[in-house]
Amino acid sequence: MVNNQILAVGSVALDSVKTPFGKADETLGGSAAFFAASARFFSKVSIVAVVGEDFPKKYLDLIQRLGIKTQGLEIRKGRTFRWKGFYDYDLNFAKTLKTELNVFQAFKPRLSEDERRSRFVFLANIDPEIQTSVLKQVKDPAFTACDTMNYWIENKKAGLLRLLKNVDIFLCNDSEARELSGEYNLAKTAQWVFSRGPKLFVIKKGEHGVICFSKRSVFAAPAFCLEKVFDPTGAGDSFAGGFIGSLSRARRLNENEVRKAVIYGSVLASYNVESFSLNRVAALKKNEIEKRYAEFRRLTRF
Ligand code: AMP
Repeated sequence: MVNNQILAVGSVALDSVKTPFGKADETLGGSAAFFAASARFFSKVSIVAVVGEDFPKKYLDLIQRLGIKTQGLEIRKGRTFRWKGFYDYDLNFAKTLKTELNVFQAFKPRLSEDERRSRFVFLANIDPEIQTSVLKQVKDPAFTACDTMNYWIENKKAGLLRLLKNVDIFLCNDSEARELSGEYNLAKTAQWVFSRGPKLFVIKKGEHGVICFSKRSVFAAPAFCLEKVFDPTGAGDSFAGGFIGSLSRARRLNENEVRKAVIYGSVLASYNVESFSLNRVAALKKNEIEKRYAEFRRLTRF
């Protein structure tokens, strides 16, 4: 019997980030952590990742306190994955100063029986070979989705293209989409993606919102209009958390459900950028999500 959980593989990281508004050192981050902190509002989430023995207990406690299942979070001898980056006033572009894969270099996840029976799979940004190995172990998922970033497009492109053949939904940002496909025009990029496997293609454009292409339609949503943007790190992953979370509650993947999911994703991303790390999303309440969802309706109705 399949269970209704979302299985998410990705990074759990110590991030050092500088924005025009402040800085944070060795704070909790990583694609799987941001994703799970948002997706947990919709369905049970189980993460698959690895951290080193230096991973602070307070972060492990926080992840568990959020109700995220951590049986697939290995603790290994060595150093935790680290990412160091900064943003100038154009908060749409993270500039990477350093990526240290550390314990992820030798990570070979083996899923438990419970994880293999997950109904939904999200392959958050990490080495495409790790994403593929997780995907292969899941028995009969209702749908699968993946994200990536320029680091993997530049270092593991062949593996990423192999992975794309086997996922239903592909999410990435506009510059990654262009880099991967070699196409400048995003509508053409969508056709390129469809010819590689996925049926749904979500392009994240930071403060300019999201465009979601299916083979038959296209839907665009703005980002929520915020006065308080503090740190955009993890915005893409928290978008994915709201988006995949919302789809995991839908009866089918029709146009209406996809549009709703894009708005839930945008709501979670908007809360995420209000603070460093997971701080804002960790303190978020369900009624705040619904309130901003309703505000989005007013923002986009004409
Ligand atoms: P986002 O801002 O949504 O693109 O994601 C930012 C998160 O991705 C940070 O918390 C980083 O730790 C994580 N990250 C950065 N580079 C990589 C990478 N090469 N592989 C996996 N995760 C990464």
